[in-house]
Amino acid sequence: MMTKSITAPSYYQATATPFAAQPRLSGEVSADVCVIGAGYTGLSAALELANAGYKVVVLEAETIGFGASGRNGGQVCTGFSSGQQKIEAQLGPADARHCFALAEESKQLLKERISSHAIDCDLTWGYLHVIPKARQFDGLKEWKAELDELGYTDTQLLTKPELAEKLSSRRYHGALREGGAGALHPLNYCLGLARAVLDAGGMIFEQSRVIETDTGSSPSARTAHGIVRARFMVIGGNAYLGRTVPKLYGKVMPVTSYIITTEPLGENRAKALIRDGEAVADTNFIVDYFRVTKDTRLLFGGRASYTTMEPSDLAASMRPQMTAVFPQLRDVRIDFAWGGYIAITNNRIPDCGRLSPTTYYAHGYSGQGVALAGIYGKLMAEAVRGTAERFDLLARVKHLPFPGGPIRMPLLASAMLYYRIKDALN
Ligand SMILES: Cc1cc2nc3c(=O)[nH]c(=O)nc-3n(C[C@H](O)[C@H](O)[C@H](O)COP(=O)(O)OP(=O)(O)OC[C@H]3O[C@@H](n4cnc5c(N)ncnc54)[C@H](O)[C@@H]3O)c2cc1C
Repeated sequence: MMTKSITAPSYYQATATPFAAQPRLSGEVSADVCVIGAGYTGLSAALELANAGYKVVVLEAETIGFGASGRNGGQVCTGFSSGQQKIEAQLGPADARHCFALAEESKQLLKERISSHAIDCDLTWGYLHVIPKARQFDGLKEWKAELDELGYTDTQLLTKPELAEKLSSRRYHGALREGGAGALHPLNYCLGLARAVLDAGGMIFEQSRVIETDTGSSPSARTAHGIVRARFMVIGGNAYLGRTVPKLYGKVMPVTSYIITTEPLGENRAKALIRDGEAVADTNFIVDYFRVTKDTRLLFGGRASYTTMEPSDLAASMRPQMTAVFPQLRDVRIDFAWGGYIAITNNRIPDCGRLSPTTYYAHGYSGQGVALAGIYGKLMAEAVRGTAERFDLLARVKHLPFPGGPIRMPLLASAMLYYRIKDALN
């Protein structure tokens, strides 16, 4: 069972805003909308709908933010994990531009919600995409030109010496800096959204795993102790949904990513690593991502894996990756190490759609959902309210399913190996 193996306590849990436990679903509850999953996707939809006066019930298998939303790198990214070209190839240039505009709107939405609901989640702006090979600089130039052409001009190319002033690592040969991307405390952002849902009159049930759904004209979701009957259903279980809704199972694949956090380094040592406290990610397919937390720890993520079992000593297995970037941290203690499941799609473009006229889903942000999940949740809410144009634009993207059965994991393992080799050669 996927959710059992990745259980190490995270830095985020240790620094979470206190939040009262929500009740477990018991008996029969009726609602206008039943939402499955209290991560960014489900809570975003729930918030929009509760604000619009709908009676909303959110069912969460574990606790709010238990999934990727409470354990991710916290990086607020621009655009889509697939890159713009794959979307353009499918939808054409004009609609691909609209998709990019929606991705930009997702960052704006995140900013507005944090501000209007006074969510204390350490939001900062500034982001460095760093290149592990000198020859990749031309790729950064092309990327900047593409972003300029899309009207996103808050970017800057940094040569190796310019980058060296900002980032104390010899590993990288230049960067594309973005002013319009950044980072936050992901769990506290998620808890803030949940607080906003409750304030708007929505109900959230924790420890209420949905074990069976009816996605027909009168949708319902059954747990071990109760059932929610609703007019609409929104499914936001993402990588953690497993086989709960069989039709969604093959659409995404869970990939594990791991994160470690050092002991507090102190202001001076932290600044000596990343001068302006910006978020950093390399441009590899299997990405290393890192940043300094508010309390001056280095938070370092990477090492994707196809297995859902945690390495026996996660901190020790991640440390060499961190010290390859920052050898000067060889002596520091690792205080936290944890992992989580990223839902990827075959083409790295998120997947959304309807299972019936009453039931919507969105998932597969492919490692880039902190901002995007918010807009997908909002667009599902718009569709429930009867305005589906923007949702339908994103739902037009076609996806090849992953195979089920015994070849599923070996296939992903070979894909990972392929991308590791590709990253090494590029
Ligand atoms: C380690 C890691 C690092 C990442 N780093 C970044 C990053 O830096 N930037 C970025 O943009 N994205 C990142 N991501 C991806 C990002 O976290 C996700 O795209 C995003 O959180 C998805 O939100 P969600 O609400 O769709 O899914 P989730 O947050 O996974 O929420 C799904 C929820 O549904 C619940 N659920 C599942 N099945 C059931 C059921 N049967 N009944 C009831 N509830 C159920 C789960 O318990 C879970 O709480 C990362 C992900 C991971 C795992």
